[in-house]
Amino acid sequence: MVRNEIQLIAALVTVYILAVCSCSTVNKADTPPFDSSKAFEYLNRQVSFGPRVPGTKAHNEAGKWIVSILREHTPHVSYQPFMGTFGGFEVEMKNIMASFYPDKKERVRLGAHWDSRHHADLDPDSTKWNLPVPGANDGASGVAVLLVIAAVIEGKEPPVGVDIVLFDGEDGGEYGNNETWLLGSRYFAKVMPLSYRPEYAILLDMIGDKDLALSSDSNSMYAAPHLWERITKHCESIGITVSADNIGILDDHVPLIERGIRSVDIIDFDYPFWHTVSDTPDKCSHESLGKIGELVLKILYEK
Ligand SMILES: [Zn+2]
Repeated sequence: MVRNEIQLIAALVTVYILAVCSCSTVNKADTPPFDSSKAFEYLNRQVSFGPRVPGTKAHNEAGKWIVSILREHTPHVSYQPFMGTFGGFEVEMKNIMASFYPDKKERVRLGAHWDSRHHADLDPDSTKWNLPVPGANDGASGVAVLLVIAAVIEGKEPPVGVDIVLFDGEDGGEYGNNETWLLGSRYFAKVMPLSYRPEYAILLDMIGDKDLALSSDSNSMYAAPHLWERITKHCESIGITVSADNIGILDDHVPLIERGIRSVDIIDFDYPFWHTVSDTPDKCSHESLGKIGELVLKILYEK
């Protein structure tokens, strides 16, 4: 009797160990690697065009380059043009959209903004207030990670279809006047067909900071508590600090939340160079981009 019990316990322990081992092996194999050096190269490339202020040559050329990279990985790439007032000027802007595995019913949307701010009005030096923001972190970082993710998704089919949207016109607003920000995502949400219901949406913004610590955005936690929990769990295993600041952040995920899409904002809002001329690549790191890339892939390939 005793021996049988010991044998039973031994058998159960073996099964448990096997289960744990096979489980961790499967998880490891299921999440493809993320090329952080490539992401940093893409961040630098965007900044090299100059500030991506709508209506400028740099913006136009950076947009074409972004589209060319996406087209390397999927034929389903398109522009969504719209008119709006950015930095006091009426200009045409365009969201850039790319779809992967369009036949898959279950879908996830990933987003970032590709424009940069027209003036560095939070720079400590007031003589710089009229200069545009280089937008290495505020703009280029999220796009860089998503361009690398596009290559990963092409190489290994995830359990869900993926739609990427790079919003334009995010950063031309006036503080205290909410309607003047997020022009691309507001337009996107307005014209989005009601039949389009992704499982959830993840927005990346300002995630390249060398000193990375994600903000706890109360809008995300409220709109998608389950997803937020999964994100924070993975942050712990990857080694991403999540701060307990608990602030409500107005970003491109908000118009989607208002249309009933469960959306979260992955953002490090504690960035001393925000809206200054010092938002340059040397304030960012490939390690931070790599951690965020890994985080998004873990969520995408988890089933
Ligand atoms: Zn900004």
